[in-house]
Amino acid sequence: MKITANNLNAKIINFHIETFQKLSNTFIKDTNNEFIEKLSNDVNLQANFEDMMRLIRISTVQNLFVITRDDEKNYYFLLDSETNTSLKADMFEPFNPLSDLWDKSYQSKQVQIFHHNKKDDLWITIAYPIIEENRVVGLIGADISDALDAEIQTRLQSFTHFFLLMFVLSIFWFIFLYTTTLYFRAKAKQGYIDPLTHIYNRKYLYEIVLKKLSRNYQLFMLDIDFFKQVNDTYGHDIGDKVLQEVAARVTKLMRDEDTLIRFGGEEFLIYTSRLSQQQCFEFAERIRESIAKEPVVYQDIVCPVTISIGINPKATKRDNFDEMLKKADTALYKAKNSGRNCVILSS
Ligand code: GH3
Ligand code: MG
Ligand code: MG
Repeated sequence: MKITANNLNAKIINFHIETFQKLSNTFIKDTNNEFIEKLSNDVNLQANFEDMMRLIRISTVQNLFVITRDDEKNYYFLLDSETNTSLKADMFEPFNPLSDLWDKSYQSKQVQIFHHNKKDDLWITIAYPIIEENRVVGLIGADISDALDAEIQTRLQSFTHFFLLMFVLSIFWFIFLYTTTLYFRAKAKQGYIDPLTHIYNRKYLYEIVLKKLSRNYQLFMLDIDFFKQVNDTYGHDIGDKVLQEVAARVTKLMRDEDTLIRFGGEEFLIYTSRLSQQQCFEFAERIRESIAKEPVVYQDIVCPVTISIGINPKATKRDNFDEMLKKADTALYKAKNSGRNCVILSS
């Protein structure tokens, strides 16, 4: 069942009424049907009853007391569960009935519930009649103030916490996006990113990659086959699109630690480390195939593209980098001479 303010309200009120019924029965039983007489003559009994009331008084009950009415309809306190002695009402201290709730309960011999409007209807007063031989001898009164408030507040709080969490997470997400954007902007500013393909350029190779070369590394030189023809046949824009697509497809197949560089016009360089000759060949084959198997499609133009790859699989930190590059380039040259769209490892 869905908990709403109304049924929650009813549940809480019923809980209190049941408790007051038990309390009232105890009062009558313990005083042997002489509730007022016994109580007014016995200070200990009064203290016992007040202790009992304090025990059943839960945190949401603000005031719990017993009042009685004389023939002139003046009300007096009999018992008060208030612990603060400066606020506690003494026995027979006048009680000021601010509503007709008390009279109604006396007359009807029924429990009366009054909903106050002050706290968004969440504050209620209950008047429960203490009946002795079919006569109302007193009323148990209770102000239940924050019962619903507390319940609803905790429910609302979990919602608030949830939204707060989402808010904080979105701030972190924003910061993350912002800093990565800044990072890439900074990189672009330093002039390391090729504006057409959004991969690293030659400057990055010489200023960054070369400074942190691995002890053993591998170089793959990639070149688009007959690219001049692509430009001549389909136009320079399609040529640009092909360059972007090749860069994207290669990027997809790379590991995080690999670096792809636009080395020249339609030449790309891959810098990798910790790959065996066999792994180099397989990796290059996957790249070659990913380009050859599907033409680049742009608007209604279908442009088949192939690439040739030359690999230097055995470069070390101590070697001269340009010589290592030259080896990859020589292998690429062999690939071109072997009919293109193939992979050659340098010897
Ligand atoms: P091969 O198979 O021998 O590599 O033949 P190729 O036609 O690919 O080689 P070539 O070096 O003759 O031609 C490369 C062409 O790449 C020439 C140049 O106009 C073109 N190119 C270089 N940079 C760009 C670019 O940024 N955009 C476009 N669209 N074309 C470019
Ligand atoms: Mg070419
Ligand atoms: Mg070329």
